[in-house]
Amino acid sequence: MSDDPRRALPRVDVVLGDPRLESAVLRLGSGLVKTVVTAALAEARSGRVPATGVVDRVQSLLPRRASSLRPVINATGVVLHTNLGRAPLSAAAIDAMVASAGFVDVEFDLTEGIRARRGRGTLAALSAAVPAAEQVLVVNNGAAALLLAVTALAAGREVIVSRGEMVEIGDNFRLPDLMTSTGARIREVGTTNRTVLADYAAAIGPETGCVVKIHPSNFVVSGFTSTVGIAQLATLAVPLIVDIGSGLLAPDRFLPVEPDAATSLAAGADVVTCSADKLLGGPQAGLIFSSAELGERMRRSPLARALRCDKLTLAALEATLRNPTTPTSVALHADPGALRQRCERMAAILGAQAVPSEGAVGGGGAPGVVLPGWAVALPTDLAVALRTGDPAVVGYLSDGRLLLDLRCVPEIDDVRVAEAVQRALDGRP
Ligand SMILES: *Cc1c(COP(=O)(O)O)cnc(C)c1O
Repeated sequence: MSDDPRRALPRVDVVLGDPRLESAVLRLGSGLVKTVVTAALAEARSGRVPATGVVDRVQSLLPRRASSLRPVINATGVVLHTNLGRAPLSAAAIDAMVASAGFVDVEFDLTEGIRARRGRGTLAALSAAVPAAEQVLVVNNGAAALLLAVTALAAGREVIVSRGEMVEIGDNFRLPDLMTSTGARIREVGTTNRTVLADYAAAIGPETGCVVKIHPSNFVVSGFTSTVGIAQLATLAVPLIVDIGSGLLAPDRFLPVEPDAATSLAAGADVVTCSADKLLGGPQAGLIFSSAELGERMRRSPLARALRCDKLTLAALEATLRNPTTPTSVALHADPGALRQRCERMAAILGAQAVPSEGAVGGGGAPGVVLPGWAVALPTDLAVALRTGDPAVVGYLSDGRLLLDLRCVPEIDDVRVAEAVQRALDGRP
């Protein structure tokens, strides 16, 4: 009995002190590692793991990262997938984010040794990207940008909005509710399909705080319709906020109907709001472009402090603005011929088929815009194994097949996808 190797098992704290686990303790915390050590020792005691293999077993059981968020390979063909974290950051943005994780001069002038404007480098990059804006602000997200603008211009007063622009952005969040949460009252004008300038003009009165024009980013109304453009709205004698949603800073010839900040300001908008993690391809943030006077009013609002974003976001945003070749723009502009070749290559390896696939912009943007691409078609019963594998691969189901659309997969990851599929195929009953 005394030579039963199981009796020679080390104590928990001895295993925990093993040099091979040192980096895991630093990364994941000793509490978690201890729990896993205890479990591995229990396995060794029952003979399922050799006594000499406890540390190896601990290493194989430990999560690879301290965050429970799991990286996903997006094979859905949807470029801005809100459930998958919208825009993936560029290498430059990731680098900037990591570099700013410690103490940084985000609000400090190192030359003078005094307080400085928070995120001034990021604001300068935004001003350079949209020279027509006299003032730029960065807040937590697109919804926060609209909230701050409406609060500054119309809290306790009326906001005039077209009935065709009363938008729900998703997950039950509705922009009219967001605007009334500021204490502003919504004055609806026009009808679902048609609103004309006279509708707005008739609604303006002493209670009017501003007109808000919202880009209906996630739906299209077609047929007998009429909307009022920014230039026309700018002729009304009240401030005009334009929520363009997706955050193109300048026109993109691939998305001709998508509004952009520069054009909206040039047409006469007083305030333009948008998200930074949609078409701009940056971190989650809200951008506000405005006249100097309105910008100062928003900046001085107590709400601005509650909505401000952190240094990591400011760093990633600045890097994105300085180098706009983001994974988002690469995926959006991917060449269908090249996608086809990649899919055919992968399909050949897997004994599968390459098929045409329709991608989308997503993120509540550019509805109706189809991005023609290609996918690898697989049996649907692989979907769960692929989603729960490492790396997690998420495709989409269509016509009784699981399709892996490679538009949003960096080409360098093709091998990992093929290997994940092979493992899923090998693991089938
Ligand atoms: C996406 C969107 C929003 C919300 O932006 P978030 O960054 O998700 O808060 C607001 N308005 C429009 C028109 C949008 O498309």
